[in-house]
Amino acid sequence: MIKNVNYLVLIINFFSFVRRELMLMEKTLIILKPCTIQRRLIGEIISRFEKKGLLLIGMKMAWLTDEILNEHYSHLKEKSFFQRIKDSMNITPVVLACWGGVDAVSVVRTIVGATNGRIALPGTIRGDYSVSIQENIIHASDSVETAAIELKRFFKDEELYSYNIDLLSSLYANDEY
Ligand code: ADP
Repeated sequence: MIKNVNYLVLIINFFSFVRRELMLMEKTLIILKPCTIQRRLIGEIISRFEKKGLLLIGMKMAWLTDEILNEHYSHLKEKSFFQRIKDSMNITPVVLACWGGVDAVSVVRTIVGATNGRIALPGTIRGDYSVSIQENIIHASDSVETAAIELKRFFKDEELYSYNIDLLSSLYANDEY
């Protein structure tokens, strides 16, 4: 009888863990642009997301091809700077990362700041590290829908990790996740 109760508790705990993890994990994509790699700012920028309490789900380097840049910047293809932004994204490899958390997409966009580094508020990444519209350090997905598309574009399923995080009760109240 006691053994059965123990099994039941184990099963309930397992499902509540899975449920919490699934609810928590809004995921978003960031790309550290070649200007950031050139300026040796990778660690500095990554540490901002880590210190905020976002959870690293995947990270890698890649050299972006013209094909993938055409896809990624397709919303800009009519703009005069389309070729220039693609060239600038191809100078070095980039660092790609997936961050997770409650409302991760909007949390990351707020940390990143406005597109134009000259207008972005101090305290934001672009506000603190960029004086340019184009060379603005970082790309971040702008909506939950875009994040899903972009994560599929840049990461294979097996490159995104799901793991137990002991920190959750220090990061969120228990009705937030
Ligand atoms: P965001 O990166 O803030 O989501 P967009 O999707 O509008 O902004 O633009 C994608 C990228 O294209 C920007 O991050 C920036 O590097 C570049 N870009 C946007 N507008 C301009 C512009 N007027 N001149 C040069 N580059 C631009």
